[in-house]
Amino acid sequence: MLKGKVAVVTGGTRGIGFETVKTFCENHAQVILFGSRKETVDKAIGSLKEKNIEVEGYYPNLNDYSEVEKVIQEIKDKYGHIDILVNNAGISQKGPIEELSSEDFEKIINLNVNAVFNVSKAVVPIMKEQQDGVILNTSSMVSKYGQPSGIGYPTSKFAVNGLTLSLARELAPFHIRVNAVAPGITKTDMVAALPEAMIEPLIKTIPLGRIGEARDIANAFLFLGSDLASYISGVVLSVDGLARS
Ligand code: NAD
Repeated sequence: MLKGKVAVVTGGTRGIGFETVKTFCENHAQVILFGSRKETVDKAIGSLKEKNIEVEGYYPNLNDYSEVEKVIQEIKDKYGHIDILVNNAGISQKGPIEELSSEDFEKIINLNVNAVFNVSKAVVPIMKEQQDGVILNTSSMVSKYGQPSGIGYPTSKFAVNGLTLSLARELAPFHIRVNAVAPGITKTDMVAALPEAMIEPLIKTIPLGRIGEARDIANAFLFLGSDLASYISGVVLSVDGLARS
């Protein structure tokens, strides 16, 4: 589905991002993954190599625009084009507002929103020149209804939706599509570590009767990144087993 496409996936070292990298490669894309540190990037590349999947990796500081721009330009120079960007790197937050410092709030906005701005800004001139490209963002089901604790996280994902819808309008004249995927609770390291006693009641709240797998989200990115979605832009696609409340 992605033959001949070059894709950059941020937060590609584990969880949803790693599964997206694998799924894109299985569909014949050339993928470049970004992670936060050399060790995690090398580990991800190594475990894909064991599956005979070749990817390249970088670890730019996503909050440093000039660093991001330099790496994106390097990728463009090497591969000739960048067709898909998946802005997936993200962190979450817990706790009542009184216990959150302004630094905590800033940290989550920096990665979940400002980094999305920076990497998108760096690929846009390349995609404009190509008159073609897809930008995909990882939102969350909490971007629809908020959550009862950890205010920075839903705030950041509401912003991701706003950025997605607005950038989709701005870039449509250049044939660049911008969409987001809003996962429900998804079995990544974070969720897998939760005790069974916490998981069971959670599953009861999901109409489709199970927790999402990283592969469910990767498949949504695959569809939206492919030419099958060539008339779809400005959507926030819920992939949450209908757990939207
Ligand atoms: P994860 O913790 O398994 O992976 C996060 C990724 O982000 C890692 O690859 C990590 O390297 C990268 N990252 C973290 N901090 C970084 C930093 N400072 N700079 C650069 N990269 C950094 O998480 P996940 O569950 O796979 O989440 C991926 C995305 O999906 C996030 O945006 C998250 O908000 C979203 N999401 C997850 C769930 C869920 O239930 N797992 C639900 C909804 C949305």
